[in-house]
Amino acid sequence: MKKILVTGGLGYIGSHTVVELQNSGFEVVIIDNLSNTTIEVLDNITSITGIKPQFEQIDLKNKEDVQLFFKKYTVDGVIHFAASKAVGESVELPLFYYENNISTLTYVLKEMIANNVYNFIFSSSCTVYGQADELPITENAPTKPAKSPYAATKKMGELIIEDTTKATELKSIALRYFNPIGAHKTAKIGELPIGVPQNLIPYVVQTAAGIRECLSIFGDDYPTPDGTAIRDYIHVVDLAKAHIAALNRLIHNQNKANCEFFNIGTGTGISVLEVVKAFEKVTEKKVNFKVVDRRAGDITAAYADTTLANKELGWKTEFTLEDALRSSWKWQESL
Ligand code: UDP
Repeated sequence: MKKILVTGGLGYIGSHTVVELQNSGFEVVIIDNLSNTTIEVLDNITSITGIKPQFEQIDLKNKEDVQLFFKKYTVDGVIHFAASKAVGESVELPLFYYENNISTLTYVLKEMIANNVYNFIFSSSCTVYGQADELPITENAPTKPAKSPYAATKKMGELIIEDTTKATELKSIALRYFNPIGAHKTAKIGELPIGVPQNLIPYVVQTAAGIRECLSIFGDDYPTPDGTAIRDYIHVVDLAKAHIAALNRLIHNQNKANCEFFNIGTGTGISVLEVVKAFEKVTEKKVNFKVVDRRAGDITAAYADTTLANKELGWKTEFTLEDALRSSWKWQESL
């Protein structure tokens, strides 16, 4: 049985990926510093799969703890989620973001190589493309200057990994996520709300639940059919499964280069207004909204060309937008 280290494995995408790893026959050891989640997630994963993953509460900023971890555990690969992800916060706290997302990445890679662990999956983001010149976005689209320290850490992360694959035996796949939404069908794991949601779906859900009074739609003067911005919303379980496909590709030496990049989205662009309407339809809940100014740094439209991921990873999405929105609502109700 292959054993996989999942850093940030108690977070939103991490926890769903741990479930899929266990369902696919992998043994999992999680590292998490609990900075943006709770230890209960470990029990909730266990109650879904019937298997308790190993867990180490480690902050990857502590280099010595990373060294000790790799002395204690022998793993076959690493899926690296652990990172901070709030765009606005990253503008306020750039050094924290560079330390928390970049220094930690170098520590993990260094210890992997020192311990002959060469399979690495990295959480990247479609933010590396900025506003792409052509839609849908292929992996060949040029990357654009980052608009926040958070986005910069994803671009830099990819570069650091690519350089490392050139100089060592490391093999890596960076998955460029579009917009992950939804929750596990059991409603035992999902995105934990901390403070005022910055992302669209959590805000929509909390507005429907009466926790927020009114959703602000950031701009209806974009050059799109209904004037609101367009994104590619992917069910988190579909996204989690892409990690299993990527990991298997590396483990079975099916990769075509030592550093590969794949877009992970649905391939369909959906506007903010379409999201609100679809949510209202599947949940029969009203979402109060008002249109306000555009949000600084937002782009008009982004959706993935998933041809490469479909072909090379043998992966495709299974869930619809409606499935994802329904699961988000069920998760909210369980909270
Ligand atoms: N959005 C919105 N109101 C909100 C949060 C988000 O209108 O309260 C819009 C945002 O401007 C963007 C889309 O919803 O067009 C998705 O935003 P989100 O923050 O979820 O993801 P992003 O694509 O910015 O990473």
